[in-house]
Amino acid sequence: MTSTGVTYSEFGWAESPKDVTATLEGEATCEVAVVGGGYAGMAAALRLAERGADVVLLEAGFLGCGASSRNAGQLGSVPGGDPQLLSALHPRRFNGLVHLADEAVDFTEKLVGRLGIDCEYEPTGNVAAAISPAQLRIARKKVQIFRKAGVHVEFGDGRDLGLPDAFLGGMLEPRGGVMDPGKFALGLRKALLASGARVFEQTAVQAVEPTRAGIIVSVPRGRVRAAQVVLTTNAYSRDLAIAPKRLAAPIWCSMVETEPIPPERLTATDWTSRSGIATQHNIMESFRLTRRNTIVTGVRQLQAARGTVGARKPDPEIVADITQGFRARFPSLGDLAIERAWGGWIAMTPSWLPVAGQATRNISYLIACNGHGLAQAPYLGTLLADRVAGDKAHDNLATVWRERPRFSPSLAFSAPVMRAMWALDRRADRRAR
Ligand SMILES: Cc1cc2nc3c(=O)[nH]c(=O)nc-3n(C[C@H](O)[C@H](O)[C@H](O)COP(=O)(O)OP(=O)(O)OC[C@H]3O[C@@H](n4cnc5c(N)ncnc54)[C@H](O)[C@@H]3O)c2cc1C
Repeated sequence: MTSTGVTYSEFGWAESPKDVTATLEGEATCEVAVVGGGYAGMAAALRLAERGADVVLLEAGFLGCGASSRNAGQLGSVPGGDPQLLSALHPRRFNGLVHLADEAVDFTEKLVGRLGIDCEYEPTGNVAAAISPAQLRIARKKVQIFRKAGVHVEFGDGRDLGLPDAFLGGMLEPRGGVMDPGKFALGLRKALLASGARVFEQTAVQAVEPTRAGIIVSVPRGRVRAAQVVLTTNAYSRDLAIAPKRLAAPIWCSMVETEPIPPERLTATDWTSRSGIATQHNIMESFRLTRRNTIVTGVRQLQAARGTVGARKPDPEIVADITQGFRARFPSLGDLAIERAWGGWIAMTPSWLPVAGQATRNISYLIACNGHGLAQAPYLGTLLADRVAGDKAHDNLATVWRERPRFSPSLAFSAPVMRAMWALDRRADRRAR
């Protein structure tokens, strides 16, 4: 579909593969059934299969069709959210959360290497960048907090960090970088299909019910009987009755991509580092280069789910708003056409932290890597698989483990609050000009 020259794609970086596996029909039994095949579910199933477990993965669409192939592809090495708030709210866990985020990058880089996935990974690092003196102060504070927690981050001005002109400077996370997240998702899919795991795509799970004879996982044309179940359904979790209530809010984020940029025009922007960029607004603006020399930019506005969390495309007004943000930060590229737009659902917890635990005996869940699942979802999925296989929980899994599946209601991600955040960001932009 196109409107004003923009193609609105359903998926971001990956189209549905030609070899999508058949839906499950009839009965199957297994030791572990994994529900949901994003990075978390694929990594969990792969680890279980590599450990010799009899594992079945059930995926509503194709493996990777959710947030995992729609994200910005920025492999970040620090936790999401405001570190000042996080360290105040979780003083005992904070260092563990920082450690988890850092090790997740290392794990994911090694996973890409071990599986030989060509996902155009560039270890450029990422910058929490400032577009105003106020944002620069936020970035400076972040540097102090993360350094105190033991992570290597650097403060620099725009020139030191090789940023485009509009950015005054910020916090460089030297570890991590940018990749094509769709190629990463499809690479994981290929590895999983070649493993001993049995994969059923186009198979939406309708219910997960513990019974005396094992856990029954019902799908439209059959069912699986499993000794253990792992739920990795991310933003779609609230549609499953077994998932803990109020675990996370499904939030829609939109991205746009420019046409390819001639090399001499890119050079003129001074973006010499190619690092991914995220601003310090309440709702960030993100910018990254691709191998095709396009810029992928996004977010600025978050939208709450009304009703079912299903297939959707970005709203043209949001695409126009993101485009306006892009033109403000890259005035010399203001004439570039926006070629594509897409979006995806992420699961947001009020704490901005990933959450894992047990919904009930033998039914584990892992969701809500918030906007940081590119590294954290495959890592935590793997650690959860090890726990399901009988290992003691790894410290980094224990950091996000909740003993009781009870969560309080939160207004943080309601539509009026998110609109107010956007309005405050635009007011701050006007003041910064
Ligand atoms: C626009 C956008 C930009 C982002 N940018 C970044 C970024 O730059 N860096 C970063 O680190 N993170 C980013 N993220 C977040 C990151 O993409 C996610 O945290 C990560 O992909 C989560 O992986 P997952 O496996 O938990 O979930 P998903 O990839 O969403 O996978 C869940 C899967 O479960 C399946 N499913 C759901 N319900 C059922 C059911 N009932 N039966 C069977 N299958 C089911 C879905 O079809 C889906 O495939 C971004 C996300 C979005 C949307």
